[in-house]
Amino acid sequence: MARAPRTTHQVAVIGAGIAGLAAATEAAHCGLKTALFDDGRLGGLITNVAAVHGHPGSEGATGADLVNTMLGAALEAGVDYQPGAVTELASMGSHWNLPGNGATALRVILATGAELRTLGVPGEEALTGRGVSQCAFCDGGLYKGKDVAVVGGGDGAFQEALHLAELCANVTMILRGRKPRARPAFVRQTADLSNMHFRWNTDVQEIIGSDGVDAVRLTEQNGDEETLSIAAIFPFIGLAPRTNLAPADAARDDDGGLIVDTGMQTDQAGLYAVGAARTNHGGQVVHAIADAKSAAHAAWRAI
Ligand SMILES: Cc1cc2nc3c(=O)[nH]c(=O)nc-3n(C[C@H](O)[C@H](O)[C@H](O)COP(=O)(O)OP(=O)(O)OC[C@H]3O[C@@H](n4cnc5c(N)ncnc54)[C@H](O)[C@@H]3O)c2cc1C
Repeated sequence: MARAPRTTHQVAVIGAGIAGLAAATEAAHCGLKTALFDDGRLGGLITNVAAVHGHPGSEGATGADLVNTMLGAALEAGVDYQPGAVTELASMGSHWNLPGNGATALRVILATGAELRTLGVPGEEALTGRGVSQCAFCDGGLYKGKDVAVVGGGDGAFQEALHLAELCANVTMILRGRKPRARPAFVRQTADLSNMHFRWNTDVQEIIGSDGVDAVRLTEQNGDEETLSIAAIFPFIGLAPRTNLAPADAARDDDGGLIVDTGMQTDQAGLYAVGAARTNHGGQVVHAIADAKSAAHAAWRAI
């Protein structure tokens, strides 16, 4: 088979979520020949968020609108936007090779983000798409007027629960601890709603159903058991960094997030990691953008 012609970039950004879009735009603004590789999930985690909070200038905008604006800015800046996942990344010493994409780059910014963690309980996999969902904005309408549950205690879980509370008869939040990690503003909003209920110190043991979700089996930490009738369940229990493209010996934390210096460079020369792919990601859009700008500037100074 004929080999694809090789294109040489100064910077290759892998992943077109918030961090990747911002990094590519900033690198292009620095005058660097920049490619942005998108695996078809443009925008990443924020895309399906109904109302983005904490991003100055976009408060309450949909995630999709924010992504479209950022993509427009990237194209305007001259970023070479390349549809197609990056499947392989190899260090050649002076540069990096992306053999599956017919490309090389002096510097690579890994912005591959994270996956939403799943519960790993019986029934979850079999009922995914039939009552188990990780997108309230996409699937909430299917459960209008019904009882649903949200699992998790972070911002994402509370945001999704607030959206569901506008549509569903009752929303039960299931939390492992007694104290939510979410911003107090979200917690206060849920406390004011009469159709929002809480199960604290509680673990999900099993999701029950055949054609769809019928119920969830819960255990409280004092040993009490409960079977709660619901039509759908939305787990938002944290993120797992997606860093398998980085060399196996790149330094990672216990969750797999890449360890970086203040310029977002990993311990592999010329490889940067930004946003949800790196260790200690701040968790919000603004943090991903700040990482992206730091990495683009560090790459620019190094080139
Ligand atoms: C439910 C929920 C609600 C949230 N709400 C808010 C909010 O209101 N305000 C806020 O500030 N933050 C919010 N966040 C957090 C915010 O979404 C993240 O901090 C941010 O989107 C992280 O962006 P990222 O680009 O690092 O990662 P991601 O969004 O995960 O993007 C990574 C991208 O890289 C792509 N990719 C992966 N591997 C490859 C590959 N091999 N080749 C090419 N592309 C690849 C992925 O498909 C994806 O498009 C929320 C998060 C969740 C889960």
